[in-house]
Amino acid sequence: MRIHHLNCGCMCPIGGSLIDGFSRGLTGRLVCHCLLIETNQGLVLVDTGFGQQDVQVPYSRLSPFFIYVNNIQFDRKYTATFQIEQLGFSAGDVRHIVLTHLDFDHAGGLEDFPEATVHVMQTEAEATKDRRGFIASSRYRPGQWDDVKRWKYYSSGGENWFEFEAVRDLEGLPPEILLIPLVGHTRGHAGVAINTSEGWLLHAGDAYFYRHEIGSPQYHCTPGLRAYQWMMDADREARLLNQQRLRGLVRDRAQDVKMFCSHDTVEFETFANKKIA
Ligand SMILES: [Zn+2]
Repeated sequence: MRIHHLNCGCMCPIGGSLIDGFSRGLTGRLVCHCLLIETNQGLVLVDTGFGQQDVQVPYSRLSPFFIYVNNIQFDRKYTATFQIEQLGFSAGDVRHIVLTHLDFDHAGGLEDFPEATVHVMQTEAEATKDRRGFIASSRYRPGQWDDVKRWKYYSSGGENWFEFEAVRDLEGLPPEILLIPLVGHTRGHAGVAINTSEGWLLHAGDAYFYRHEIGSPQYHCTPGLRAYQWMMDADREARLLNQQRLRGLVRDRAQDVKMFCSHDTVEFETFANKKIA
């Protein structure tokens, strides 16, 4: 198994360091951290960021509210298809896509991979059917996935992974790739755990947004990302509880599990520069 870290989206919201904790200018910088995994069962993509159609016709795919609030930078070079081709593969080589959730900044590239089976929690698929309210109808954009042919839905398996529930045996995928339900940001949100030769890697999706929310007992978050998480919460209590559990996991099992979230640029750069085989 070989893992590539891809940034499949760039968002530059107004707020600078009040958003990302490091930018000096007026705008912050957030990534869409995705993984491309080379396996014996073909290429596996974890999350897709923004896709070709988002770049071409953003206003017919996405909510103008999020285009402005997140100041999404539409550029083909960020799409997963472009980067996969740069690596010498083609979109048709991607056989499976494992999703943390179906928000617009994670599901935008689904239709760029017509050969892929899409794996997601059942509760997340159900949540997209109830798009009542401004946030729900703006975050879930069925136009991003209505041409997907093959879906696999999962319910919490009850199997243990470091005291978290895990869904093992994702259909057609190697046993090293698991879904770890981390509900809160959305109703069916999950992390994706991968057993690598160097230990476990956990893509925590949007379970947290800022690197200092995890990894230290003195955790904190920038005001911008704290407000964004509050706005997007489907279940705040569950999100905060899961963040606490993830903090415990990093504290107790730092040698066994390396973790990152979807949108922190500093985390992305740390992982992208380190090759994990
Ligand atoms: Zn997100």
